Amino acid sequence: MKIAFIGLGNMGAPMAQNLAKAGHEVTGFDLAATPEGLPMASSAAAACAGAEVAITMLPDGPILRRVADEIIPALGQGAVLVDCSTVDVQSARAVAAQAAQAGLGALDAPVSGGIGGAQAGSLTFMVGGEDADFARVQPLFEIMGAKTVHCGGAGAGQAAKLCNNMILGATMIATCEAFALADKLGLDRQSMFDVVSTSSGYSWSMNAYCPAPGIGPQSPADNAYQPGFAAELMLKDLRLSQQAAEAADAETPMGREAMAQYTTFVEDEDGRGKDFSAMLPRLAEKGRAQ
Ligand code: NAD
Repeated sequence: MKIAFIGLGNMGAPMAQNLAKAGHEVTGFDLAATPEGLPMASSAAAACAGAEVAITMLPDGPILRRVADEIIPALGQGAVLVDCSTVDVQSARAVAAQAAQAGLGALDAPVSGGIGGAQAGSLTFMVGGEDADFARVQPLFEIMGAKTVHCGGAGAGQAAKLCNNMILGATMIATCEAFALADKLGLDRQSMFDVVSTSSGYSWSMNAYCPAPGIGPQSPADNAYQPGFAAELMLKDLRLSQQAAEAADAETPMGREAMAQYTTFVEDEDGRGKDFSAMLPRLAEKGRAQ
């Protein structure tokens, strides 16, 4: 397939490279990055000339909307626009509607799995959009990822992503605060892990990504909390979840508190650039009133 790939940062570059390695004809465009082994166009619109599929992997919704304004007129009838960025549900739906008006297909297809998953081609895609568009693009998801779930119509992929990450943010904080309490109760962290990881408090945060160094499987905690999944990216996703909750009039008290905790950590403390599991040393050094 002839594919345009716009946004070749940490995630986009390896995803585009995996498509090119699999034999697809990929043309890239990025404002700053110039990854190896990919022919680059002089603009996003130029990359899209003659493309059957245009994939975007951009920082946020406002940038996606600007890029969509530029590339939708450059794509031929029947092409499919696939946005893999994590953006707000409203932007995903607006871009899908704009694409449909121009006779294009559109999918929102955010991912989980991080930079490692992008490099290994083992991402999970959560996809919103029409069945026919999904069927056309699925072979590409299979190259870039290990699992793809078609979640529903336009915006459903973003909805699934932000709900998942709202659970993750709240669960990571709950796991970290329990370790911090256990420390102060004189319970050693290994015992805490051995009990919780096999009891009803278990979760992905405890069992697969344990925030305590030297305990459980290898995780960013064992590497001085180098990300991994950076605290500021978790904050971005928690903000999207609260934006969606406000728009939909949904009460999400734990998501709201998780956003407040990560906001303080990233903006007022030293959380930026650390893995999101560094919530554990943050809480462990605080007393009750802080
Ligand atoms: P990144 O900042 O490394 O890459 C974004 C790229 O977009 C940059 O290279 C930038 O130059 C480019 N860009 C910005 N504006 C542009 C424009 N107008 N035209 C063309 N290129 C433009 O970010 P990333 O880590 O690759 O993340 C991309 C998206 O994936 C984000 O929405 C993020 O939330 C999501 N995501 C990231 C991870 C992760 O672990 N990094 C995991 C899951 C999802």
